[in-house]
Amino acid sequence: MTFQDMPLIAPLLKATQEAGYTEPTPIQRETIPLVLEGRDVLGCAQTGTGKTAAFALPILQHLFAEKLDGSRKPRALILTPTRELAIQIQENFALYGKHLPLRSCVIFGGVSQVGQVEQLRRGVQIIVATPGRLNDLIGQGYINLSQIEIFVLDEADRMLDMGFIHDVRRVIAQLPAQKQTLFFSAT
Ligand code: AMP
Repeated sequence: MTFQDMPLIAPLLKATQEAGYTEPTPIQRETIPLVLEGRDVLGCAQTGTGKTAAFALPILQHLFAEKLDGSRKPRALILTPTRELAIQIQENFALYGKHLPLRSCVIFGGVSQVGQVEQLRRGVQIIVATPGRLNDLIGQGYINLSQIEIFVLDEADRMLDMGFIHDVRRVIAQLPAQKQTLFFSAT
């Protein structure tokens, strides 16, 4: 199976081609059609298996196809345990979404919040975040998650190992009841 056989729109196929991908990986083959159908997905996959594209490609397609009205409110949230993963995931969204008019930003702690707040002010549809700083910025009123349509919990097992359960619960409490949830864990 090639990427051309996947139910993906041309701007995404073009981006995968430009990234040098020819065939979807197993997790991508399984996950992409389910996410596009609007199903909740529990995926068992490690980093290195192509997991990021497995959720990023259908999320970009959903955001572009549904209600693209030019407003820049957060519609997709990806929670991941570390700053390195958050940066990597946001870079992938930028790469795969380079032919689409969608904006993403990355939020993590340990650095000044000024640049992150500035990006949020300009408006983004996709937020990739670590839990602690995300809750900080929600508390300060810079982020409203009431319009989130797709929520991804990435590396859920590591999230628990690293003691983020309370932070994750606080984030989930801010999300609307009606949403699509994707859950990825290596174990
Ligand atoms: P990930 O598991 O998302 O961290 O991806 C691991 C690496 O595989 C990243 O460097 C991706 O750019 C690359 N990758 C993802 N999907 C594919 C694919 N279908 N073909 C070739 N490389 C890929």
